Amino acid sequence: MCSKLTDYDITTHIDLRHGYVEGMGQLCFSCYTGSSRNSISVDERTIMDTPNDMELGSKIRRVFYESRGIPMPKDPKWEKIFTR
Ligand SMILES: [Zn+2]
Repeated sequence: MCSKLTDYDITTHIDLRHGYVEGMGQLCFSCYTGSSRNSISVDERTIMDTPNDMELGSKIRRVFYESRGIPMPKDPKWEKIFTR
């Protein structure tokens, strides 16, 4: 994004690089970890113990809100769709 050169060689496989974003290419550490690209960790157990993708999505969202220390908002629009 800032066009700064990174330590990665163009021949290094993207799976072995940090900060490679499909469709955008290699980002430098600063662009990759900037405020719009924060990351959270989800423990493997949560993923393995939750076969339902939608339920997993909701658990990940909860982890996100908990990590930010803000209460998870209830989205009435979605509730309406599923209770119809
Ligand atoms: Zn950059």
